[in-house]
Amino acid sequence: MKTFDITVIGAGPIGSLCAILLAQLGLKVAIIDRAPKKVLENPTRDGRGIALTYGSKTVLEKLNIWQKIPISEAEDIKEIRVSDGDSPLFLHFDGAEAGDHPLGFIVESHLVRKFIFKHLVKQKNITVFDNTTIANFDVLPAHVEIDLGQEKLKSALLVAADGRYSFAREKMGIEYIDHDYKQMAMVCSVTHDKPHFGVAHERFLTPGPLAFLPMTGNKSSIVWTESPANAADIMQLSNESFSALMQKRFGSHLGSITLDGGRWSYPLKMVHARTYTKQRFALVGDSAHAVHPIAGQGLNLGLRGVCTLVEEIEKAQKIGLDIGSLTPLEAYESRQKTAAISMIVATHGLNALFANDTLPVKVVRDLGLAAVNEMPGLKNWFMKQAMGISTKFSGTLPKMMTK
Ligand SMILES: Cc1cc2nc3c(=O)[nH]c(=O)nc-3n(C[C@H](O)[C@H](O)[C@H](O)COP(=O)(O)OP(=O)(O)OC[C@H]3O[C@@H](n4cnc5c(N)ncnc54)[C@H](O)[C@@H]3O)c2cc1C
Repeated sequence: MKTFDITVIGAGPIGSLCAILLAQLGLKVAIIDRAPKKVLENPTRDGRGIALTYGSKTVLEKLNIWQKIPISEAEDIKEIRVSDGDSPLFLHFDGAEAGDHPLGFIVESHLVRKFIFKHLVKQKNITVFDNTTIANFDVLPAHVEIDLGQEKLKSALLVAADGRYSFAREKMGIEYIDHDYKQMAMVCSVTHDKPHFGVAHERFLTPGPLAFLPMTGNKSSIVWTESPANAADIMQLSNESFSALMQKRFGSHLGSITLDGGRWSYPLKMVHARTYTKQRFALVGDSAHAVHPIAGQGLNLGLRGVCTLVEEIEKAQKIGLDIGSLTPLEAYESRQKTAAISMIVATHGLNALFANDTLPVKVVRDLGLAAVNEMPGLKNWFMKQAMGISTKFSGTLPKMMTK
């Protein structure tokens, strides 16, 4: 039986970052993923452009991961423009009004994963068990035993970052709320004639939002949400017809739009675990809370969670407490739940508000957009949320996320 301080299941972006942060505390970490190393080191494109907040970028910078992402692959979000269908009223956020840095950054998801994992394999006190699907584990009073089939691991704490359909959550008997939005997000990147000037567009349409997120050059990353039936039909279209329909939905702000490479689609579901921790066990990332991508915050929220968990483990370590005991784990859960619930409420509410096309609701929300646009205090609060540095309603930020 091999012994580690902590075992992490799942070497996605959240599990990997968790392992890296734990290793920085001098802990001996094992990380397990069912995918082979060559796939984790070089993930294929999945069509998603990840909107990273300023807070998440700060963490990646402190870990010296951000500096490895080629400048040609990361674009600043300088402004966000929110509009409601064809209404002339809109809401405009200008990052320059909130501070001296952008509102966020767009990097393609496979690159975020690649550079995080590349950094992980360089850490001396992390052992990767790739190509390995965890067969079973037992949480015992003094340690956890993890059965990998061929071998067994033993550690003081098991952290599950195995995604929204978490096996570990199921095995621990942790109940969860699961909401099917009955929406599909179609994602791709496009090239357009006109420059975007770093402006992200969120256009709310009745079937769901259509987001254009700025990438380097005259390119944007698209998240186009439709009902499953519409999405199935749209995904069947030829590239030309797909681009033409998107153009019709979005309008002509960016000139003519052409699909750039493939397209992918994802069913949208919210998952929220009733509890994130038990003695010697913690859920992090999508296994604890998977949110609607309407605000581009799932990965950012997961990163906030692992920074919080590691901060609490460090406190426990300093005073000689057992790192698998409930004291650090419950402190993590209480802080992260506040952040996750406020994000779930916000994303849920936004989606429901804009999906309702009855006339009174539409009039009120359009007036609401125009009114918020004239309220500097409220606009500033929204911008700080987008940057991932607001503490109002979401609790204390972990230190790793602040400069
Ligand atoms: C359309 C779309 C757009 C999005 N856009 C954004 C955005 O702009 N900004 C943002 O912050 N977030 C965004 N997100 C959310 C983001 O993609 C997720 O929050 C993030 O990928 C979660 O990471 P994770 O590491 O928790 O889980 P995952 O990425 O799901 O990783 C889980 C890992 O666990 C492994 N695994 C699973 N089960 C086992 C097992 N039994 N044994 C071993 N290994 C296992 C898997 O192989 C995988 O590597 C978006 C999501 C969608 C669907």
